[in-house]
Amino acid sequence: MIIVMQSTATEAEVEAVTALIAASRLTSHVSRGSERTIVGVIGISHDKETLLGQFAEMSGVESVVPISKSYKLVSREGRDEPTIVRLPNGVTFGGETLAIAAGPCSVESREQIFATAASVARSGANLLRGGAFKPRTSPYAFQGMGLEGLTIMRDAADAHGLAVVTEVLDVRDVETVAAYADILQIGARNMQNFGLLREAGAARKPVLLKRGIAATIEEWLMAAEYVYVAGSHDIVLCERGIRSYDPMTRNLLDLTAVPLLRSLTHLPVIVDPSHGTGVRALVAPMSLAAVAVGADGLIVEVHPNPATAKSDGPQSLTLPLFAELMDRLDPVARAVGRRLPAKAFAV
Ligand code: PEP
Ligand code: MN
Repeated sequence: MIIVMQSTATEAEVEAVTALIAASRLTSHVSRGSERTIVGVIGISHDKETLLGQFAEMSGVESVVPISKSYKLVSREGRDEPTIVRLPNGVTFGGETLAIAAGPCSVESREQIFATAASVARSGANLLRGGAFKPRTSPYAFQGMGLEGLTIMRDAADAHGLAVVTEVLDVRDVETVAAYADILQIGARNMQNFGLLREAGAARKPVLLKRGIAATIEEWLMAAEYVYVAGSHDIVLCERGIRSYDPMTRNLLDLTAVPLLRSLTHLPVIVDPSHGTGVRALVAPMSLAAVAVGADGLIVEVHPNPATAKSDGPQSLTLPLFAELMDRLDPVARAVGRRLPAKAFAV
């Protein structure tokens, strides 16, 4: 259940509520919004009805909302106001300006990353993407540059005023990746790695949570709930396509998820049209569509020379194709009341 405090509720009144929650052997989660404080109650009570009545009678309490959903704190009922995730360099997910992450699938070399960062910043991206730890289907495929890749990402992003989004694959690497990234990416294959979700949440860094390869929307929201409960409230959901029966595309990009999630959760939602389609020619049209249906941003694979890419070359845009996409996105973003990040000046 969720206890909504009155806008005039005092700290002592909030404390009285959390004290009763603790006395009932339940856990409380206090979320302070700009308008009001909401207390989430976590755990199972055998006498829910009595407890509901008790909370409703307490001073400072506006209403008590029983939430039957298994995700509570990330749900719309848990918090009305949309969450805006803010990164240190001013990038926002959920604000008027879209978050646009661009870069290669894998970090391959310093030259590759610096060339990409310079170009995508000039085209108007505000985050640099790139995997240093890669989740590869085959154990013999390129596994990523590891720590060296993280340092390259950080250096290139700082040189071009970009934020860093990169995947953390293993619970043992959370601290290391968190030291270099502005937002920790949890990949599709790890969406239900509950230990990793907890550890990433405990790192108290923003988290980009990709949809699992065959995850329902509800499973995805429950995965986000794990991160939220563990301590990070700055969670961005990323629709990246789900497995379908049709091999023409790598995945089936579920754009319905964007407006649907809007009604279910206060968390921002972005779209990955690269993994969502697996086909370079489909990346631009699906990017335009994603922004049109209200996505808060995009994460796009871009490579200076996709033919030589160590992973995901066929779905990677070239640098000029990314620049062209950004120009085409501009009027679509404006049509839905959003704007693209400012383009960096050539340096
Ligand atoms: C990626 O973004 O590089 C990636 C591996 O994505 P996903 O987890 O969506 O497959
Ligand atoms: Mn990839």
